Amino acid sequence: MKSFAGAPLLDFYMELNKISLSEDAVRFSKPAREVINAEQEQTMPLIKVYPPKVAAVDFFEVLHQVSGVIQKKRPDMSNELAKIEAALPADPTERELFATQAFVPGINLLTNLKQDLPPDTFGLLLNHTVKLFMPRYAQEIKNLRNFDQWLQGKCPVCGGRPSFALLDKEEGKRYLYCGLCEVKWRFNRLICPFCLNNESQFFTVKGMEKYRVYFCDQCHGYIKTIDERRTGEADIDLFWEDIKTMQLDILAINEGYYNQPVEQPATY
Ligand SMILES: [Zn+2]
Ligand SMILES: [Zn+2]
Repeated sequence: MKSFAGAPLLDFYMELNKISLSEDAVRFSKPAREVINAEQEQTMPLIKVYPPKVAAVDFFEVLHQVSGVIQKKRPDMSNELAKIEAALPADPTERELFATQAFVPGINLLTNLKQDLPPDTFGLLLNHTVKLFMPRYAQEIKNLRNFDQWLQGKCPVCGGRPSFALLDKEEGKRYLYCGLCEVKWRFNRLICPFCLNNESQFFTVKGMEKYRVYFCDQCHGYIKTIDERRTGEADIDLFWEDIKTMQLDILAINEGYYNQPVEQPATY
């Protein structure tokens, strides 16, 4: 994925956050009972059981605005973005299909477009567009699942890898956090969420003692963690904590750890 190394990342996300969604931008479908049984329903990420439904008109409007924000920060990408927007489907049925498929984990929409488009820029545009809808979807659907009983290393909403974690201030219970859906859920304190190895360790950095970086020598995954007992703050916003602590990512990556699957880069 293309980065914003040359432009302030925080500023980029603040611009994206100004894009507003309509009141009923995200709905979801009910599962077909004959396809999914009760047990699967409780163990599969919600996105696979109750797929999000976003109207094409809303999806493409947001996508266009995301394109504008990216161009403002990275004018050098303007031509590629214009080419991509011009290649998007025009037929109403195809547009609805595209807007639905954009939320299917693991799908590669680029292959449907029958044009040679720059994959990194396409991924960047699509990922940030989908990202704006996912927290709303999570809000709509979260009552269908008890996140305290989920206890899996992947997000109960989208099934993705957690991007951040929290140790709560009462008992130091551990919660994992998905940066895409902006939800958190309970997880075992010491187990690596990525490979379930029970020997994960952590390091801290001088001057940033409220953060820990847990790492695993079995799968080489790492996860940044904020220790609420050391913050003294109420209502920690994990989305911004994740972005504000990029230097911890750099440290972990330089040590040979990673926070995305190696074989399949971030789908969103
Ligand atoms: Zn998620
Ligand atoms: Zn691991």
